[in-house]
Amino acid sequence: MKTLVLSLLVGLFAFATDAQAADKLKVVATIPDLADIVREVGGERVDVTALTKGRENLHLVTARPSHLVALSKADVFVQVGLSLEVAFVPGLMETARNPRIQPGAPGFVNVSEGWEALDKPANVSRQAGDVHPQGNPHMNLDPRAGRFMAERVRDGLIRVDAGSKELYAKRFADYEKRLDEAEARWSEQRKAWSGKKVVVYHQEYGYLCRACGIDIVGSIEAKPGIPPTPNHLAELIAKMKETGCTTVLTAPWSNDDTVARVAEAVGGKAVELPNQCGGIAGTDTWIAMMDLVHRRLGEALSPAKGP
Ligand SMILES: [Zn+2]
Repeated sequence: MKTLVLSLLVGLFAFATDAQAADKLKVVATIPDLADIVREVGGERVDVTALTKGRENLHLVTARPSHLVALSKADVFVQVGLSLEVAFVPGLMETARNPRIQPGAPGFVNVSEGWEALDKPANVSRQAGDVHPQGNPHMNLDPRAGRFMAERVRDGLIRVDAGSKELYAKRFADYEKRLDEAEARWSEQRKAWSGKKVVVYHQEYGYLCRACGIDIVGSIEAKPGIPPTPNHLAELIAKMKETGCTTVLTAPWSNDDTVARVAEAVGGKAVELPNQCGGIAGTDTWIAMMDLVHRRLGEALSPAKGP
């Protein structure tokens, strides 16, 4: 008898947890930044999975079976767009055959919708391996993008789950207040950086540098996605010497010997910045990531004077 009661209770408990889990919206986000923003806006209503981890080169992500499982069950799919996820998302979408999240469906959220892309090529093509055919897709690293991405996440969640509209609107408003504070903090920090010069490994920090008034002298990559040739590096180093540029910005995935050699050749230093949340310790949320980005830029570009 005792066993029967116990198993009934266990059964009921399992049912209750299942029902709770089933009740939540299943959201799949391509990058951890978007998963964080979905959690901020969706709170308890959402169960979020990110397809990529912090240290990945987003242009070279390989689709995995776990991605496919997540996409087949998803109610909402959130991507950056601008071809950032083109290496893995289109194939996964086709195989998952989930009508709720196909482009055009209510559950498809493209956070760069309406975003004015930098570095747009004259012709849209992936000629010569260029991985930025629609312009610079790394808008998640623009200090002003948090609000832009969160607005589109909020609208997507409301489209799919109109019954919780008030909750999403309220949580968005709370998040927006924290974004206001963070943006005020960042714009204060970057005042001293206007006109400073940097070199980047990949064109990930274009939006960030624009917002900070930092001048990008060149890229270590010959083109986005194309590794440097010796000639290209020699020209880049000459240009850095000529312009007095001594800072190289690099992501964890690209922080290699070439970065160190270029920095050394000009007597400068490499500054590692995250390219998405989680790539460096203490960057689990988008706001925390941008705080770290500003802190590291500050240490490199406006170091505190000694006593
Ligand atoms: Zn890129």
